[in-house]
Amino acid sequence: MQAEAAKTRVGPWVFNCQAPDEGNMHTLLHWATPEQKEKYLKPLCNGVSSSCFAMTEPEVAGSDPTLIKTFAIKDGDEWIINGHKWFISGANRAKFAILIARTELDVPEGSRGANTAFIVDLPTEGWNNVREVETMHGPGGHSEIVISDLRVHDSQILGGRGNGHRLGQYRLGPARLAHCMRWIAQAETALNMMVDRSLKRYSHGSYLAEKQGVQWMIADSAMEIYQCKLMILHAAYKIDRGDDFRTEVSMAKHFVANSLNRIIDRAIQVHGALGYSTDTPLANMMQHARWARFADGADEIHQMRIAENTIKAFTDTGTTSKATGDLPI
Ligand SMILES: Cc1cc2nc3c(=O)[nH]c(=O)nc-3n(C[C@H](O)[C@H](O)[C@H](O)COP(=O)(O)OP(=O)(O)OC[C@H]3O[C@@H](n4cnc5c(N)ncnc54)[C@H](O)[C@@H]3O)c2cc1C
Repeated sequence: MQAEAAKTRVGPWVFNCQAPDEGNMHTLLHWATPEQKEKYLKPLCNGVSSSCFAMTEPEVAGSDPTLIKTFAIKDGDEWIINGHKWFISGANRAKFAILIARTELDVPEGSRGANTAFIVDLPTEGWNNVREVETMHGPGGHSEIVISDLRVHDSQILGGRGNGHRLGQYRLGPARLAHCMRWIAQAETALNMMVDRSLKRYSHGSYLAEKQGVQWMIADSAMEIYQCKLMILHAAYKIDRGDDFRTEVSMAKHFVANSLNRIIDRAIQVHGALGYSTDTPLANMMQHARWARFADGADEIHQMRIAENTIKAFTDTGTTSKATGDLPI
């Protein structure tokens, strides 16, 4: 569904499976109380609400959420929250935010039990949208938020106190895979365009499709898309079965994000000046594809986790087999 919808930029919006709402739906389904599901999940699924997920901060590395500096201090049955967030996708239209703040002050730095998730109804006093951050792919869509003395009732905690890090990690599993599915659509569109152009453009006595140099680009892209699809399907299968899916999702996210960038780049190469122009969608696709390599987990973070898991598999079992998909071959 995601892979079909994302063949156009508006497709996931039409089918209500766009980020961050889609990832938030999974999160609420898994972590919300029955009351929270009724109030927030149902309208989100029905397409009559919208949401954002507010974790990243300009002052600390988004790659390490244990460093978060947005604090929530308990005051009776309420919390007072102060902090600074940015790159919060969809915040300007969101009816609620899932906000990650630090609540546990007496745990050591780097502890995974320091953060808590809160559901914040929007708009509300203390939640100040100061600007839309302009990016490589244009203006708008990602907000910078200053949070000043925002008051939230205890019942707005999502997933239990101190579970903010776990909730964030759980959310990112299916959400990362959904990104991969949408990227498949973009990569396939780029390959279709590459082949179409190569069948029509004539140079030095033959069509580009007949040049070995171009055929290699087509073949590499086809092989990569095949690998991407298999990795996504296998990671999705693990999620469906309730198996530990973290390594497979990390490997898929890293591989698909990098394949996407390579395939769009090759398509631009085969189109020449036309590919660099804005007469085709390729230039815009390239601008959108770049963030895939660092948002929702930078390449290097996924590589770090994959390596850790591979080393652990070897030291635990004497073989790395478990860390390479744990497949029967
Ligand atoms: C289009 C877009 C939409 C986004 N939407 C949201 C959103 O809705 N909500 C939200 O909360 N955030 C959002 N983000 C933020 C995104 O999740 C962060 O950009 C991401 O987590 C990385 O954090 P950072 O930008 O602070 O980079 P940093 O953490 O500063 O990392 C910068 C670079 O340093 C390197 N690096 C960092 N740590 C390590 C390490 N341990 N080992 C090796 N190398 C390392 C990596 O190369 C990394 O790319 C969005 C970002 C973009 C671009």
